[in-house]
Amino acid sequence: MTALLAIESLSVAYGHVEAVSGVSLGVDAGEIVTVIGANGAGKSTLLNAALGLLPAAQGTVRFDGRDMAAVEAEDRVGLGLCLVAEKRELFGTMTVEDNLVLGGFRTERRLAAETLGAVFDRFPRLKERRGQLAGTLSGGERQMLAMGRALMSRPRLLMLDEPSLGLAPKIVADIFAIIADLRASGVAILLVEQNARAALNAADRGYVMELGRISIEGTSATLAGDPRIAASYLGVGHG
Ligand code: ATP
Repeated sequence: MTALLAIESLSVAYGHVEAVSGVSLGVDAGEIVTVIGANGAGKSTLLNAALGLLPAAQGTVRFDGRDMAAVEAEDRVGLGLCLVAEKRELFGTMTVEDNLVLGGFRTERRLAAETLGAVFDRFPRLKERRGQLAGTLSGGERQMLAMGRALMSRPRLLMLDEPSLGLAPKIVADIFAIIADLRASGVAILLVEQNARAALNAADRGYVMELGRISIEGTSATLAGDPRIAASYLGVGHG
């Protein structure tokens, strides 16, 4: 089977500083794959390069078998690759509904209306607050809006950058339940997280990123049982 997303030997640099070095990873249709790692390991850089927001210094990104080198970020979104950035990047002075509508601006009008209905079904909280300004939402609601807006582009693969960041445990559980639901509805997920425990619980497979490189990869069960991961990322043992 061809991977839906196949990243091979990808390197990304900021000036002279390489933030991602020779990373290879894949996500198949229907999978949840996580990339865990400490602050500054290069996880966000990896996602931004996968979407084409940052140029690759080396290596390839393939989506659905097609080389993305010459495909602009917004056209990658049109093909079904979407990113919910760590900063969530909402339009704070616009309503919840208008933020969502913007997420579907490439979609034909009738389909966009249908997709908006599906997003409101998935996130009843957003439906309740459809007329509220995005800037006045709680942290959890903002994350839901960012995910809902991404879903408006009808992605086949959703990349999520730290969806649990700054959220209370109850809300984190809600967000992870939504991630599981999305997979069940056929959306593949590439999940970047510092909350390794929650990420490994949700994912089928994972990669550990350290200083721009993949240091360990395997099934979530293997990773969760790896003493190096337990010590460094799960807060267990003494390393
Ligand atoms: P975090 O969880 O803190 O966001 P991360 O694993 O996502 O960490 P990145 O944000 O990808 O890591 O950062 C990787 C490295 O690249 C870090 O050393 C960071 O300082 C550097 N970096 C990130 N963005 C830029 C930038 N715009 N210009 C220069 N260096 C950058």
